[in-house]
Amino acid sequence: MGLSIFDLFKIGIGPSSSHTVGPMVAANRFLDELHKNQLFKQTHRIKADLYGSLAMTGEGHATDVAVLLGLLGEHPDRVNPDKVPEYVAFIKAHDQLKLGGVRDIPFYFDTDLQFHFGNSLPSHPNGMSLTALDAEGHTLYKNQYYSVGGGFVLNEQEASSSQSTSHQAAPIPYPFENGQDLLDHGNNSGLSIAELVLENEKYLGRSQDIPKDLMAIWQVMDECIQRGCAQTGKLPGGLDVERRASEMYKRLVNKPPEQRDDLESMDWVSLFALAVNEENAAGGRVVTAPTNGAAGVIPAVLAYYARFIPGSSDKGIQIFLATAAAIGMLYKKNASISAAEVGCQGEIGVACSMAAGALCAVFGGTNEQIENAAEIGMEHNLGLTCDPVGGLVQVPCIERNTMGAVKAINAARLALQGTGQHRVSLDNVIETMRQTGLDMQDKYKETATGGLAVNVVMC
Ligand code: SF4
Repeated sequence: MGLSIFDLFKIGIGPSSSHTVGPMVAANRFLDELHKNQLFKQTHRIKADLYGSLAMTGEGHATDVAVLLGLLGEHPDRVNPDKVPEYVAFIKAHDQLKLGGVRDIPFYFDTDLQFHFGNSLPSHPNGMSLTALDAEGHTLYKNQYYSVGGGFVLNEQEASSSQSTSHQAAPIPYPFENGQDLLDHGNNSGLSIAELVLENEKYLGRSQDIPKDLMAIWQVMDECIQRGCAQTGKLPGGLDVERRASEMYKRLVNKPPEQRDDLESMDWVSLFALAVNEENAAGGRVVTAPTNGAAGVIPAVLAYYARFIPGSSDKGIQIFLATAAAIGMLYKKNASISAAEVGCQGEIGVACSMAAGALCAVFGGTNEQIENAAEIGMEHNLGLTCDPVGGLVQVPCIERNTMGAVKAINAARLALQGTGQHRVSLDNVIETMRQTGLDMQDKYKETATGGLAVNVVMC
């Protein structure tokens, strides 16, 4: 299977795609493997071990909770976020877990789930291992999993063969590995970037009704904005971060006409991003786009298009999402969307690049201008580090989404001022991002051991 638009946009749960969604998916896969090997019924205990960045920022990113949910048979797109505290409280109170949602087994939270601080598994900084034991305590089955960003998961076999199920050759009409391939296909076929990936999508079998499913993605994004604008109080985790979206929404709605100015739409864009990322930080329902930490950028820019741009339409929303996904696929294939690998340039930077190209597309940009907008969106995020205070996806994450969204709008508008001819190609900047990520010290890669994380005191 090739990469699908629905790989880049997945309905999930906050606060993190790599540390929450991915570990839950890994636990789902572990259960599937137990069933496949006919070991599910013999499994008496489960041990979960978290390594690298999953250990360092796992507690703040609810990785432990995510593993439990996955073992309960809950899936990121279906779990009811409001029920999660109840599920976890039950396990802790009763030392018991309903494996796969069907069979009670003992589970001792303090000993059966371990954070291995300072240790990493070989294939990726976000590693974890799951072990099934029989009634005598013998190992029945064990596998390692890597949460490689954006909710994508590889098991040990896939990681060691560098092959994920979503990267195998696919029988699609317009295969592409880089931005130049996309431009070449566009020139040869006369299709836009959105049309190219939508044609490919027909062959991937991920959706029976692609326009409907794209609108469903937008609906979850939009509902998240609306929910975020209505919630008040402090975010969980102990940082005492107050939600801001609700107050800001009221101020914007009630602003007297004489106080309105030309840039008010940018305040709304910031509001949309804040609303989504406050919901994400609270463990709410979000669309991973392409990660959860950066889940506010694309909805904010898309909401700007839908609410502020005359002539916006459902068709435009679909073009926006398809174009954004095409750009995200380039980063997934050629660099990384994992902050544990490349820092925040792989989250906010990639989301900004995706949103910039997508907005340029719905503004009527050529493929070359879209590629230029995406390039600008990343070029000015190069080197962006990941240093969340307290390991929580709150500071700087929530506000950083507002910056990514506004920057994306500027990048789209800047690209539309030109012809699409430009010096630094999107492929150049993606490779530069990859190299910058490799050179970045580990303390700036989602470990909460550098930057703001050590200079802001938690109280
Ligand atoms: S700093 Fe950026 S990459 Fe790190 S958790 Fe926050 S949003 Fe994600």
